[in-house]
Amino acid sequence: MDLKTLHKISYGLYIVTSGKDDDCNGQIANTVIQVTADPPRVGVCINKQNYTHEFISKYKVFSASILSQEAPMKLIGLFGFKCGRDLDKFEDVEYKVGETGSKIVLNNAVGYLEVKVFDSVDVGTHTMFIGDLVAAETLSDAEPITYAYYHEIKGGKSPKTAPTYIKEKKVEQTPKKERKKMAAYECTVCGYVYDPQEGDPENGIDPGTPFRSLPEDWVCPVCGAGKEDFEKIEEY
Ligand code: FE
Repeated sequence: MDLKTLHKISYGLYIVTSGKDDDCNGQIANTVIQVTADPPRVGVCINKQNYTHEFISKYKVFSASILSQEAPMKLIGLFGFKCGRDLDKFEDVEYKVGETGSKIVLNNAVGYLEVKVFDSVDVGTHTMFIGDLVAAETLSDAEPITYAYYHEIKGGKSPKTAPTYIKEKKVEQTPKKERKKMAAYECTVCGYVYDPQEGDPENGIDPGTPFRSLPEDWVCPVCGAGKEDFEKIEEY
C-alpha cells in the first residue's frame, strides 16, 4: 500500500475554535469539510488528545476560520503547535464572539463558519464532529490557503496529532559538492528545520545566514520556540 497516495487529497487550513465566552480554545485543522448542502452541514475531525476536543465535546459547537495564503507562520504555529492548556491563544489575536458563544479568530481569515454539532463519530484516534451551519460570513477576497501550499510554499509541518500526519523524512539532502559548511538545525518542538541556505526571509533573515548568526530573539517561524529549543542535525 502506498500511503503517499493520501497526499493527493486536497485540504484547506483552518483555525477551529470552540467554547463559550472566556472558556475557549482553538487549534489548526485541515479536515473541515462541507458534508451536505441542503441543509448546509459541516464536519471536522479532531484528535482526542487535543484540548479543543474537550471544548467541542462539552459545548457542542465549533467555528472554523478559513485562513488566507497570507496567514503568517506565527499564527499557524500559535494555534497549531502550542497548547491552550499552557497559554491563552486569544490574547494577541483579533477575534469576535459568534452566535454560538465561541470566539472566532479573524486574523488572516477569508471567512468563517459556525456550526452546532448534532452528531459525532468515534474514528479511533480522532472524533469526527458533524453539525448544522448556523452562521457564516465572508471577510475578504484573498485566496484561501491549501494544505499543499502550507507545506510546499511556506515549509510548514504537521503536528503528530494531525489526522493526516505521515512521518516526514529529514531534510532533503543537497548533493555534497553543492553544500557549504553550514549546519541545519531542527526545532525540537515542531520539527521545523532551519536551513541556512534558505534563511528565514519571512522574518528578515537572508539566505546564507548560519544558525549561530541568527539574532538571539529569533524564534521558530512555525511554533515560536526560541533558539535554545533547536538541535543541530547535520554538518554540511
Ligand atoms: Fe518550532
